[in-house]
Amino acid sequence: MRDIIIIGSGPAGFTAAIYAARAELKPLLIASSVEIGGELMNTTEVENFPGFPEGIMGPDLMGKMQAQAERFGTEVVYDDVVELDVDGPVKRVKLGNGGEHEAKAIIFATGSAYRKLGLPEEERLSGHGLSWCATCDGFFFREKTIAVVGGGDSAMEEATFLTRFADKVYVIHRRDSLKASKIMQQRAFDNPKIEFVWNAAVDAIHGDTAVTGVTLRDTVSGEVSALDLDGLFVAIGNDPRTHLVHGKLDLTPEGTIAVDGRSSRTSVPGVFAAGDVIDPIYRQAVTAAGSGTVAALDAEHYLAALEDTSGDPSAASAEAAEVDELVAVDLADAAR
Ligand code: NDP
Repeated sequence: MRDIIIIGSGPAGFTAAIYAARAELKPLLIASSVEIGGELMNTTEVENFPGFPEGIMGPDLMGKMQAQAERFGTEVVYDDVVELDVDGPVKRVKLGNGGEHEAKAIIFATGSAYRKLGLPEEERLSGHGLSWCATCDGFFFREKTIAVVGGGDSAMEEATFLTRFADKVYVIHRRDSLKASKIMQQRAFDNPKIEFVWNAAVDAIHGDTAVTGVTLRDTVSGEVSALDLDGLFVAIGNDPRTHLVHGKLDLTPEGTIAVDGRSSRTSVPGVFAAGDVIDPIYRQAVTAAGSGTVAALDAEHYLAALEDTSGDPSAASAEAAEVDELVAVDLADAAR
């Protein structure tokens, strides 16, 4: 049986792996059968990760994190988790290939998934002019007219990136002001290929075998119009990927996994969670990485307490939490 299994290969998962591996816990990291590296694999330039003053491409950053985790002894498995059994002292993880692994502790860092518009055409046209990933699919829209839906940083980043290929990029946003950071907004406003369509919701996507346009509804007047397009990119945020733990771990009203205070302790002893899957607000690569650190340290404390408590998960979890609390009390006393 392993000490730790980490599920997820984004910044949270790999940072947890770096810490756990350096603590000689020989973690097993279950990445994914499709694409290892999480959401940053779909990003172009990452300009806000400290330590890279010139910026770094998302996939390069993830490659470095993986290399660092492996350097200290993390074993990476390229498969999907299909089932989790987290009750009791032995946690069991079943993989898509039928394999099973056991560990004393689990760190759950599955990140978040692209949000969908909720339109019936979405599934049919996905990959046929409808995309959630500009980096993956932008190349196919050379000299075309396309649109990006959304008003956040992702939408601005995607729209700006897509102007490398497309002749024209509309940004369709449901309000008349953007949620994106000022610098990303300004970059999009300054780009002559980008045109904003304000107060507009996509009510339907047109096209039998490929996207040919959309029906737009003015969110203020209710007026309906059509916009011809060769492609549509959806960048309206992400939802935490929690389907594996529904009914097993407590969730917050926002749908993220509930953790105890600033820790990574979930409602089940020995199960820790980190990154976007616990964070409805900040969701940055660097905050996810920090969160992965917290999870690895919490898991380490738990494993140490497990030895003191003859393998009782609840007692170990309580003891580890108590030790953390005592440190906090000591610090508070010292500050007085
Ligand atoms: P956000 O949640 O920040 O923004 C989502 C946007 O989509 C909002 O403008 C929202 O509208 C709109 N939206 C949500 N649901 C719908 C819907 N059903 N129909 C139409 N529009 C909808 O998500 P992002 O993915 O943009 O960003 C997530 C996080 O990642 C943020 O913290 C962001 O800063 C960060 N990020 C940073 C980047 C960078 O620094 N390079 C690049 C990309 C992301 P409304 O505004 O009305 O709520």
